[in-house]
Amino acid sequence: MMFTVAIDGPAAAGKGTISKRVAAFFGFAHLDTGLIYRATGARVLAGEEALEAARSLRVEDLQRDDLRTTEVAQAASKVAVMPEVRAALVDFQKDFARREGGAVLDGRDIGTVICPDAEVKLFVTASDEIRAERRFLELSGKGQDVTREGVLEDLRIRDQRDREREAAPLAAAADAVLIDTSEMDIEEAVAVAISAVEAVLKR
Ligand code: C5P
Repeated sequence: MMFTVAIDGPAAAGKGTISKRVAAFFGFAHLDTGLIYRATGARVLAGEEALEAARSLRVEDLQRDDLRTTEVAQAASKVAVMPEVRAALVDFQKDFARREGGAVLDGRDIGTVICPDAEVKLFVTASDEIRAERRFLELSGKGQDVTREGVLEDLRIRDQRDREREAAPLAAAADAVLIDTSEMDIEEAVAVAISAVEAVLKR
C-alpha cells in the first residue's frame, strides 16, 4: 500500500511528536525533512558550500546528534532559501513518500510541493509564545544553554524567512486539515491527527 501523510507547520508547533506518533500508530515510516536541511546547514557551518553539501548528503548525516541547536536551525533555514539546494533534496523525499507500507513526512512544503497528492495533509500551528515555551523546555531539558527570549527570537526569524522565501515557502495546502495545538496537550493533538488519517483510510 502507498499512503502518504504530509504534516507541515512553523517551527516547534508539535509536528515532530505528532508525526512520530501517527507513524507508530499506523505502522508507517517517518521522515523528519527538517533534518535534511539541518544536516546541510551543519555542513555549511563546518565550511562546505551549500549546494555541494546538499548534493552529497548521506543518510548518516541525518543521524548526527548535534543537529538540534538554534545555530544549526538558523543555518538550515538559510540554505533552505536556495532553490538549487531544495531541488537537490526533492528526489530523496519523494522516494521516501511513495515507499511501500505508508509514510509520514513532516516539514514546511510537504503538502504543497513535495507531496501535493498526499492522501492526508495536516497543517499544525500554535501561538509563537507557546511554541517558544515548548522548544525552550525541550532544549534546556537537554542541557543546552538557551533562554526563552533567545528561543522565541530564533523561531520568529526562521518562520519569517520560511514564509517569505520564493522557493516552496511555508504555507498550508488548500486542502490541509488545520490543527492549532495552542490549547491542546500532546495526547489531544495526536488524537486529532490520528482521526484525520483514519477518516481517509476508511473511505
Ligand atoms: O523542522 P525544523 O525546525 O527542523 O527545520 C529546520 C529548517 O529547515 C526550517 O526552519 C526550514 O527553513 C527548513 N525546512 C524547509 N523545508 C522543509 C523542512 C525544513 O525549508 N520541508
